[in-house]
Amino acid sequence: MSELNLVLLGPPGAGKGTQAGRLVEDFRLAYFSTGDMLREAVEEGTELGRKAKEIMDAGDLVPDDLMLDLIRDKVDEPDARDGFILDGFPRTVPQADGLAQTLSDLGRSLTAAVLVDVPDDEVVRRLSGRRVCPKGHTYHVEFDPPKHDDVCDQDGQPLRQRDDDKPETIRRRLENYHAQTEPLVQYYDERGLLRRFDGSRPPAEVHDHIRATLATLRLEERL
Ligand SMILES: [Zn+2]
Repeated sequence: MSELNLVLLGPPGAGKGTQAGRLVEDFRLAYFSTGDMLREAVEEGTELGRKAKEIMDAGDLVPDDLMLDLIRDKVDEPDARDGFILDGFPRTVPQADGLAQTLSDLGRSLTAAVLVDVPDDEVVRRLSGRRVCPKGHTYHVEFDPPKHDDVCDQDGQPLRQRDDDKPETIRRRLENYHAQTEPLVQYYDERGLLRRFDGSRPPAEVHDHIRATLATLRLEERL
């Protein structure tokens, strides 16, 4: 069987996690998010994990080489034999080059960069509607409203908007996202690897589109 080696791109609030979870089941892929990989390596106390911990404890960003070493180890494990979804990496063009080289060293290559695209206004609408109670119960003013405005259904506590969910904070994150991601989108487009999906559609529909596209890609790879 041919592999599906994927990177996942998209703004916050695009539902990437949901889509990744479904694709993992559809195609029996391994799922690697950079956050999880780092946490796991640190917890397991591997050599890479110890290095990463030292760097993060000093308040520095984990360098690309170390991330690529982590990815190399994960991709080489048996559960990634049919392919993988990489979430959170690459974020820059040099990282994308590094990933291509790392995969090539393993005799593999990227099948596609899956972009779940959502317009900025829709991201703001999705994220800024979130409300939480002090115990962590979560609502959405539009998609999952509480029975009474600003009061938790479960414990009657007042609901509030997290600072992270304030529209001005979301706009700032989106600016960073665009500045970082647009060169990557272009990079993968130029290499014929970009597959763009309309993430403003309902999640089930987005999933159907992605699954159909990937199934076709897998067939093509086998020919
Ligand atoms: Zn509550």
